Amino acid sequence: AHLDRIAAVDDRVNAFLHVDAETTLAQARRVDERRAAGEDLGPLAGVPIAHKDVFTTHDMPTTAGSKILEGWRPPYDATVTARLREAGLVILGKTNMDEFAMGSSTENSAYGVTRNPWDLDRVPGGSSGGSSAAVAAYEAPLSTGTDTGGSIRQPASVTGIVGMKPTYGGSSRYGVIAFASSLDTPGPFARTVLDAALLHEAFSGHDPMDSTSIGEPVPPVVDAARRADVNGLRVGVVKEFAGEGYQPGVSARFNEAVELLESLGAKVVEVSCPHFTYALPAYYLVAPSECSSNLARFDAMRYGLRVGDDGTRSAEEVMALTRAEGFGPEVKRRIMLGTYALSSGYYDAYYGKAQQVRTLIRRDFESAFEQVDVLVSPTTPTTAFPIGERADDPIAMYLADLCTIPANMTGNAAISVPCGLSDGLPVGLQIMAPVLGDDRVYRVGAAVER
Ligand code: GLN
Repeated sequence: AHLDRIAAVDDRVNAFLHVDAETTLAQARRVDERRAAGEDLGPLAGVPIAHKDVFTTHDMPTTAGSKILEGWRPPYDATVTARLREAGLVILGKTNMDEFAMGSSTENSAYGVTRNPWDLDRVPGGSSGGSSAAVAAYEAPLSTGTDTGGSIRQPASVTGIVGMKPTYGGSSRYGVIAFASSLDTPGPFARTVLDAALLHEAFSGHDPMDSTSIGEPVPPVVDAARRADVNGLRVGVVKEFAGEGYQPGVSARFNEAVELLESLGAKVVEVSCPHFTYALPAYYLVAPSECSSNLARFDAMRYGLRVGDDGTRSAEEVMALTRAEGFGPEVKRRIMLGTYALSSGYYDAYYGKAQQVRTLIRRDFESAFEQVDVLVSPTTPTTAFPIGERADDPIAMYLADLCTIPANMTGNAAISVPCGLSDGLPVGLQIMAPVLGDDRVYRVGAAVER
């Protein structure tokens, strides 16, 4: 049924970069066989899933939305994809994304834009916009994404679905093509909070293949989503993420969600996190710095594209030609920013300073969580914007992640759940919890999702 749905609508939505019905149906038959053989596969066995094209899959190509990886077939599975195969989920295909996960609209993909199913002239958010659009368009019941600065929560918000960024290190980065390694976090998309929790639990937990993987048990997210109550819970409204600069409909839906929390028995207070507004500029030093280092591996020798290798050019020339043609403009901008911020003489003033800001943000979270159990804010300042509107204005594009970036800078758990519509377009409520407090955001999210 989902393959039929993809065939019917994806020429308009363009959520998928790769769909291969034969491989999908073969996987589904294999699940039937395993079930028939008496294997206990868990609650999601047989459920179809779409993976962001940043997760390696041994039987499907993986491009990270970049021309430089066109045609690359990874020899192995990411831990997330491997665990979900093991649990019996069936892969429908790979979804479109901003190149190397850099963007907030999926317009930076080398393979065309993905459209928001609510309004095909608007963006589905990004960078995991193919995954959010696929679930919102009923092409897939579940999908995966990665959240480095908001790339799960923001697309979930603007497509009216649930998207969760687990605690950093709670989900494995092994086999996830790296953007900014201290921030990258795989997580689930679903249409309900409980579905997201089931998916979260199926792929999370310690992985010896990821050096920053946490050696703690997965927080009880499914139980928390089933519990779905907020009675007596202390909820903090982040003062710095309210008021000016937010679309009126976004503020209105956010205020209603806060009233709903109160009516369900939560104790709501305003909390100040004075350094949260510096998270965005600090992120745009840290993330490009890490990207400039991670993307050095695309050297025309090891993977995918190779340009100008006709026997007359040096390796260095081939490398330069390949990178010039293989990387898009946003990726080049990030590599240049990052190389600059890391260069000697500038390192302390930029990268070093950004790391210090990160510590201040962590302290804000710590003191906030001495007063409250969760923090809430709008997920993103506006609803889905028109395709093209911010394409030539990187700063306007970057602002889409204003509210989501603090949790990335510190590794905290955070979710976006739908909280109503503004002018017919979805609005998201962000709920943030302490590190390893993932269950709390599911508990609150399940109580207030709409
Ligand atoms: N939009 C942000 C960026 O462009 C975040 C992206 C992400 O979370 N992968 O860097």
